[in-house]
Amino acid sequence: NTPLHELDPDVAAAVDAELRRQQSTLEMIASENFAPVAVMEAQGSVLTNKYAEGYPGRRYYGGCEHVDVAEQIAIDRVKDLFGAEYANVQPHSGASANQAALFAIAQPGDTILGLDLAHGGHLTHGMRLNFSGKQFNVVAYHVDEAGLVDMAEVERLAKEHRPKVIIAGWSAYPRQLDFAEFRRIADEVEAYLWVDMAHFAGLVAAGLHPNPVEYADVVTSTTHKTLGGPRGGIILAKKAFAKKLNSSVFPGFQGGPLEHVIAAKAVSFKIAASEDFKERQQRTLDGARILAERLVRDDVTEHGVSVLSGGTDVHLVLVDLRNSELDGQQAEDRLHEVGITVNRNAVPNDPRPPMVTSGLRIGTPALATRGFGTEDFTEVADIIAETLKPGFDAEKAESLKARVTALADKHPLYPGL
Ligand code: PLP
Repeated sequence: NTPLHELDPDVAAAVDAELRRQQSTLEMIASENFAPVAVMEAQGSVLTNKYAEGYPGRRYYGGCEHVDVAEQIAIDRVKDLFGAEYANVQPHSGASANQAALFAIAQPGDTILGLDLAHGGHLTHGMRLNFSGKQFNVVAYHVDEAGLVDMAEVERLAKEHRPKVIIAGWSAYPRQLDFAEFRRIADEVEAYLWVDMAHFAGLVAAGLHPNPVEYADVVTSTTHKTLGGPRGGIILAKKAFAKKLNSSVFPGFQGGPLEHVIAAKAVSFKIAASEDFKERQQRTLDGARILAERLVRDDVTEHGVSVLSGGTDVHLVLVDLRNSELDGQQAEDRLHEVGITVNRNAVPNDPRPPMVTSGLRIGTPALATRGFGTEDFTEVADIIAETLKPGFDAEKAESLKARVTALADKHPLYPGL
């Protein structure tokens, strides 16, 4: 029972340093969040020791009576949270959930229709080097000039290619999708509709975003982005898909479920059903809107910086640097220098190479979890705007970093850890 610091000071030092980084900087990677201490406690529990292949009540191992309780709580809570007929809480990650879901409703070689990666889609929606792109016949739809998903193109491609599955979901898109229209098109060509709500699941849980469960045959998600739980995946669906999805997850792709993570998912679903969570998701949305508004002011746009689609309805903003001298890599590095963590991101029809890009993806979930409100997000937006303007030098970096530190100090993260 030797504690980590004594047993392995090298790994302990890395963990400590990461905690200090999270506490002292502003985390604005749109797919990240801060898991509550209770979630981390469940995730770090003795449940990590238990083999439990199978599902609650039908396991291939003895001694599962307690993990059965935790897993059933997770299933019941997530079904309630999203109004789903069926839930599987075992996928180890979002990508694992997507793999299991896709293989449950389609066969290798079938045609799938998803949003192009370069236009905001995810790797698992048909990228060339991913299982989805290697094993399925991929047709991709795009965003239009205004930066909105081109539903006319979705309909045209669906009619032309008759896909087995239409995928609605994104990793970098600042607007809500029209699920009813996706459903109509899917029905017209007799395709399954799969929604990947990994990014916006927290907004859905709070009732601040349309619920795809009402429209889709299958819905997948991560549990660690806006939803704010442990790193992991889930699948929700209509009852008719239950058998196929269960056997696709286990034994199809996974062995023993991570019961410690499943227990942590259960805790996060309890939190996600609370009024506090709803209020936090509202601050997440308000923060993103403030960011978008302050990055399209004339004193910013005159330097070639703008925001894709002109704003946001969700938890992130996509900064467009196509007309700026600053590229995505330089912008990411500058923000890192002042203590703000974001990721560079390709914009549609990006003229710069994928490792450089002409965009930034900036999200507000983690700061909202820290307690940031309107006034704080306004200050953050102004710091970002100043950082991206010309004339950035060591002196300016220093003063902007001091403003970041003041915000970090105002909203302590994991006090006492
Ligand atoms: N689906 C979408 C839309 C995502 O944005 C992501 C992660 O970025 C995933 C799936 C994959 O999740 P994970 O990284 O847990 O495999």
